[in-house]
Amino acid sequence: MDRPSPRRYPLSAAHVSPNLRRWIIGIASMLGAVVLAPLTAALGQSSSNYDQLRNRLVNEVLVPQGITNPAVLKAARETPRHEFVALLHRKNAYYDMALPIGGQQTISSPFIVAFMTQALDPQPTDRVLEIGTGSGYQAAILSPLVKDVYSIEIVEPLGLQAKQLLQRLKYQNVFVKIGDGFQGWPEHAPFQKIIVTCSPEKVPQPLVDQLDEGGLMVIPVGERYQQTLFLYRKKDGKLEAQPLRPTLFVPMTGKAEAARQVLPDPKRPAAINGGFEAAAVSDQYIQGWYYEQQATLVTDPKAPEGRHFVRFANQQEGRSAHLLQGFAIDGRHVRELRLSARLRYSDVVPGPNREELPNVAITFYDENRRDLGFFWLGTYRGSSDWRQASRVFRVPVGTREGILRVGLFGASGVADFDDIRLEAVEPAAKDMP
Ligand code: SAH
Repeated sequence: MDRPSPRRYPLSAAHVSPNLRRWIIGIASMLGAVVLAPLTAALGQSSSNYDQLRNRLVNEVLVPQGITNPAVLKAARETPRHEFVALLHRKNAYYDMALPIGGQQTISSPFIVAFMTQALDPQPTDRVLEIGTGSGYQAAILSPLVKDVYSIEIVEPLGLQAKQLLQRLKYQNVFVKIGDGFQGWPEHAPFQKIIVTCSPEKVPQPLVDQLDEGGLMVIPVGERYQQTLFLYRKKDGKLEAQPLRPTLFVPMTGKAEAARQVLPDPKRPAAINGGFEAAAVSDQYIQGWYYEQQATLVTDPKAPEGRHFVRFANQQEGRSAHLLQGFAIDGRHVRELRLSARLRYSDVVPGPNREELPNVAITFYDENRRDLGFFWLGTYRGSSDWRQASRVFRVPVGTREGILRVGLFGASGVADFDDIRLEAVEPAAKDMP
């Protein structure tokens, strides 16, 4: 078994390929990261170009990932997402990624918007309440599918900007107000549908009260880095829950965030369900991880740890297969972090960029969610039986959160991972503040 000795990596991510970089940025952006430099060649900005890019997004991302409602697909083909982001980000508007919209917030990724919209089963007679207007894009997607959309945003400049934009683009059945969305909008209740695009710990009671009998609510609930998208149906005044999939939405603003009871411990970063033993969510999605692409949970009594591991399989060069997980880490307390995993792989061929190989990787972010560096376990290609990999990374002092990523990242072949661990390395006495 190969056990590489702990190595430290420089803090530069400059050598990462543009494609891989785009994923990292996309992932960073989900957490509201600021993108500092243009990353891909600028695309032409004529409307027919945008139409083409939108159609590609629908055909290559939304349809293959299970969006089937024709009305939702039509709305995705027709809604100009580039109008909802700043000029700087327009060239990335039709990739499946979240993008910064200011105020440390992000526009949701097109897949998540389509997925949540489809889950709501939109009907032309529905009055819909949205919490977290953000850019206004989700409201714009809903607009042609329902009667009216009432949308609440807590960050005033964002709400005002979205309101003006929606007016300019003539979404006449969308109404925006500034306020704490978890109080709902009683004047217009009851709502047949409620969609929440920021993540509270529990479903706020005013939203339960304002949901019509038989109505549906789609909402990501859970701890800050451990959220599940739920679909609730109101029956006899109570909510019946159906978990949809694990997810990660940006932290909220306002009372609900301040009142969180379970907080992550940034002094003790840890991987959740790194041994893949927890039962799948809805018999389908791997618990604790999100943004799942081409991953399956495998049961095998000979797994290196427990009885399960995760398998990534990809045949199409450049298409990603991965899982992500957010975690809290404070670089003032944790100086060094050990990342370890067991992996095996077969017939692995790098994607179009040579860095596109199976890996376990970490990206660190500061309090403004700026990218502080990208670190990974090793270079794996070809085939190998189960092996252990472990490395210790220096944590930049400004670090406040991280994203753990595992997968094939554009390589083709099969890769299995198990026993993924994150662990703070005790600082040497002389390093103590
Ligand atoms: N639906 C948006 C994306 C939302 S990001 C889009 O399509 O672009 C989440 C949004 O929720 C952010 O704009 C954030 O400011 C807002 N938000 C957070 N907490 C809130 C609260 N308590 N009430 C209303 N909006 C809130």
